[in-house]
Amino acid sequence: SINEAGWNLDNSYARLPQSFYTKLESSPVPSPEIIVFNHKLAELLGLDRASLDSKEGAAIFGGNALPRGSIPLAQAYAGHQFGYLNMLGDGRACLLGEQLTPDGDRFDIQLKGSGRTPYSRGGDGRAALGPMLREYIISEAMHGLRIPTTRSLAVVTTGEYITREAQLQGAVLARVAASHIRVGTFQYASKWCTIHELRALADYTIHRHYPDAAKNEQPYLVLLQEVIKRQASLIAQWQLVGFIHGVMNTDNMTLSGETIDYGPCAFMDIYDPETVFSSIDLQGRYAYVNQPYIGAWNLARLAEALLPLLHEDEEQAIKLAEAELARFMTQYEQHWLTGMRSKLGVFNEEVEDEALIEALMKLMQEHQADYTNTFKALTIGRMEELAMHDTRAFHDWHASWQARLLRQPQTKQESEQLMRSRNPAIIPRNHRVEEALEAATETGDLHVMLKLVEALADPFAYSKEQEAYAELPPDNACPYRTFCGT
Ligand code: AMP
Ligand code: MG
Ligand code: MG
Repeated sequence: SINEAGWNLDNSYARLPQSFYTKLESSPVPSPEIIVFNHKLAELLGLDRASLDSKEGAAIFGGNALPRGSIPLAQAYAGHQFGYLNMLGDGRACLLGEQLTPDGDRFDIQLKGSGRTPYSRGGDGRAALGPMLREYIISEAMHGLRIPTTRSLAVVTTGEYITREAQLQGAVLARVAASHIRVGTFQYASKWCTIHELRALADYTIHRHYPDAAKNEQPYLVLLQEVIKRQASLIAQWQLVGFIHGVMNTDNMTLSGETIDYGPCAFMDIYDPETVFSSIDLQGRYAYVNQPYIGAWNLARLAEALLPLLHEDEEQAIKLAEAELARFMTQYEQHWLTGMRSKLGVFNEEVEDEALIEALMKLMQEHQADYTNTFKALTIGRMEELAMHDTRAFHDWHASWQARLLRQPQTKQESEQLMRSRNPAIIPRNHRVEEALEAATETGDLHVMLKLVEALADPFAYSKEQEAYAELPPDNACPYRTFCGT
C-alpha cells in the first residue's frame, strides 16, 4: 500500500524473535526542521521528494510522526568496544521500517539521534547537529567513491539544545542501510539468546543478504564465507582511498558489507600508515595500517558466534571456521593489489608489481607526500606537483613504472582512463569538512556544505570546480582530531 509520499514500508525485523528488538514509543522534539534533504536518494527509494522536503517530512524525520506502515523499534546488539565485549543496542536510534524500492530493493530507514531507548544506558539518546552533518557529508562522499556504505537521506534540527562539552543544537539523521545487522548482533544472539534465536537471525541475514547460501547444505558456513569476502573487499577499498574508520568495534561492522558509523572517521592527507585521528584511540588500535587486521579480528568474533550453527561437534565447528578465517588476509591482499595496479594504470599482472607499488609507498612516506594528490598527479601526468619529483629515487621509480606500462597490450590512453576511474581527484578533506560544519552550525549557512557535498558526488570528475577541494590544509594547521559519541 504505497501512500502519496511513496512510503512502502515492511517490517521484517519486527518478525524476528522478540529478544532482537524493543518497540519504541515516540519521543517528540520541539520543532523539527529539515536542513538537508537528499533528493536523489529519496528518488531511488521511491519517496516523493516534494512531499517529504516539507513540514510533513520534518515531522517524520524528526521522529514526531510515523510514516504509514512503520513499526518503530530499537535493535538489540552487543559489541567488542576497543577489545571489550559490552551489551549495547540502539541507544539513540529508531528503525522506522524497511522501504521497498521501485527497483525491488529493501533498505532500512533509521533515525539516529531520535531519543532514548531501553538500550540508552546513561546516554540522552540525542545527537548534535555537527556530527550528523559530518556523517551526511562523509557517507555521501563514500558513496561517490563507489564504496559500499550506509547513506544519508536527511538531517533535521530538533529545535532543542543538548548538553555536551557545550550546549549544542540537537539533530536527527535519517540513515539508509541495506540493513543494520552487525557482527555485534550475532554476538548478542550467541551470548544472550537461545540457539533457536541465533539460527533465526542467521536465516534472516541469509535471506536478506546472501539468498544463495540457503541452497547450500552448509548455509551458515557460506554466510561466514560471504561476509568475509565482502569485508575483505570493503577494507581494501578503504585502504585504497586512505579512509580511516576510526572505531572498528564489532558493533560497527555490518553483515551486508557496508561501511557504517561515521563517528571519528577521516581521510588521511599525508601518507603515514600509523595515522590515527580519533581522540580516544590512544593505542592506535584502529590506525590505518591496522584496519585489515582488526577486520580479521572482528570476523573471528563473528565466526565464534556462529560456531553452534556450523557443526554439532564444537571442535569440528572450530576447524571449519578457522579454514574460512584463514582466507581473509589473502582475499584482502588480492583486492588491495588489484586496486593498486588499477591506481597505477596496470591491467595485467606481474610478480614484480608488488615491489613497484611498495617502492612508491616508501617514497611517499619518506617525502610526506599527500596520499590522494600523489595518485592524482600520476594520473594527469603532473609530476612536477610532487614533492619528490626532482629526486633520483623518484626518477628511477617513474622510469620503471613507465616501462611497466609498456609491458601490457593496453594503450597509454587506456591506462589513464583506468587511473582516472580509480584515483579520486578529491576526497572530503578534514579542513574542508570542518569549514562546512562551522558555517552550518555557527551561522546556519548550509551553502558551504552543499557545495562540498555536490563536488564529492563525483570525485572522479577531474573538473575545474573540484580544484579548490584538492588543496591541502595550511601548514600551520593542528594535527586533526576526531571525536565520537556526540
Ligand atoms: P558507537 O561508538 O557510535 O558505535 O556507539 C556505541 C553505543 O553507544 C551504541 O549502542 C549507541 O547506540 C550508544 N550511544 C551513542 N551515543 C548515545 C547517546 N547520546 N545516547 C544513548 N546511547 C548512545
Ligand atoms: Mg556504532
Ligand atoms: Mg557512532
